[in-house]
Amino acid sequence: MDVMGAVREISTLLLPEACLACGAKTFRALCAACLQHFDDSPTAVWLEGVPCLGWDDHDGRIRVVIRAVKDERRTAELGLLRAHANRLAVVARRLLDVDDALWVALPSSAAARRRRGFCLAERAFDRCGESVREDVLWPVRGLRDQRTLGAAARRRNLTAALYADHSAVDGRQVVLIDDVMTTGATMRAARAAVLASGGDVVGMLVLARTPRALTVG
Ligand SMILES: [Zn+2]
Repeated sequence: MDVMGAVREISTLLLPEACLACGAKTFRALCAACLQHFDDSPTAVWLEGVPCLGWDDHDGRIRVVIRAVKDERRTAELGLLRAHANRLAVVARRLLDVDDALWVALPSSAAARRRRGFCLAERAFDRCGESVREDVLWPVRGLRDQRTLGAAARRRNLTAALYADHSAVDGRQVVLIDDVMTTGATMRAARAAVLASGGDVVGMLVLARTPRALTVG
């Protein structure tokens, strides 16, 4: 833990602060009511016929914690995400055929990675009992600026925008891991890249699915 994280953790022992998610006064990062949402069991949706395990984050409570860790470097809250990730891994091992699978984190954008210096999905899953690779999927250079494209064009753009290391995934079953699934476009692109390099995707794990993610199928 960095110094600021330690100071913040000590200070929360003394003074109430605002709950990250709802603003209620609390002596922890999240109030008891918001914390309770982290006890829910993960559920499955299907994306291109592949089970995607995770939590429906209707009200954004999980994303608030993810953002706090990603952008504000609140490392104390990483424990919550790790607990979430560990439970997902347990459910995945129980429900999916992943005995011999390669666990692969989706890449952050190059800019986000430079800013943060780490991949949140890899960090959250780093104690889940699997070795999660973050060096298998890569953004392809020359990606067109997403902001200028419509939804369908964005999907095509992204499908072409990830590359999977052939030597890593060829002939392997792959579990794809990400922190937030917003539309499923990046997951689709990752799956396409794995298939193009001779692998197969047997499951997807996400810490939070936004309401938009649930409408894409
Ligand atoms: Zn709260």
